[in-house]
Amino acid sequence: MRFDIVTIFPGYFESVFAQGIVHRAQTEGLIEIALHDLRNYTHDRHRTVDDRPFGGGEGMLLKPEPLAEALADLGIAPKAERTSEDKSKTCVALLSAQGRVFTQAVTRRLARLDRLVLICGRYEGVDERVNELYCDLELSIGDYVLSGGEPAAAVVVDAAMRLLPGVLGNEASSEFESFGAADDEIDLDLDGVPRSQHGAGGLLDYPQYTRPAEFGGLRAPEVLLNGDHAQIRRWRREQQLRKTLKNRPDLLQRAALSVEDRRMLEQMQKA
Ligand code: SAM
Repeated sequence: MRFDIVTIFPGYFESVFAQGIVHRAQTEGLIEIALHDLRNYTHDRHRTVDDRPFGGGEGMLLKPEPLAEALADLGIAPKAERTSEDKSKTCVALLSAQGRVFTQAVTRRLARLDRLVLICGRYEGVDERVNELYCDLELSIGDYVLSGGEPAAAVVVDAAMRLLPGVLGNEASSEFESFGAADDEIDLDLDGVPRSQHGAGGLLDYPQYTRPAEFGGLRAPEVLLNGDHAQIRRWRREQQLRKTLKNRPDLLQRAALSVEDRRMLEQMQKA
């Protein structure tokens, strides 16, 4: 998969993409990340990318012309001129606090593409015509305002690339973690407990422990030390439900829950 990032701060990404899995994925040729400096698409002495908003108000906006020129240089035509085949392979996304919230479900969709073009806003944002003419998606990484789209682009690249075949050591590991595949896509045992050792099913992941068994006066849960895998799976499912109920009760409404899950949740809510 190829990622193209249009930004006024290409240097921002140098260390971000030079570490860990994202670095390995590039050196192994599983992903390609190309950075495009928006200022290279300006034609004045000051390499101006911004201008004042019509109608007044605070701050500056990224002007449309350099962005349109950058996209043309990447072979990206306005939406109206793209074929449906182009659209199924390439997505142009604008990072924006006004966008659709970036979730694991959106990540799974993006990871099926051949190419993702990410436009990083700055200042007070981007002239809306860039969005209207070129962008298939407006993406927000959460309900807060960043000073630029660069951290958001790094988040999107990281989340999408780790779903690509071959990027993670164990293919299953992205499926069985927080916000994992829906329950009907994963392997359940007869009690509706995921067979995996990990969290899954649109819930948050369960808490994990490693050596030493005792730390800071706290002992790791005994059930994890006793080697009974059926018990461990049940304990982990209960912990997933407990954590999701405490931190993200909204996820429970969409999660596919077994009768046993619902019973456990009822008990937790009464306690
Ligand atoms: N005036 C804009 C608003 O209130 O929606 C905020 C502009 S923000 C200071 C500058 C840039 O940061 C945006 O154009 C966008 O690219 C990026 N940005 C800010 N918050 C974001 C978020 N939650 N998700 C994705 N990008 C964000």
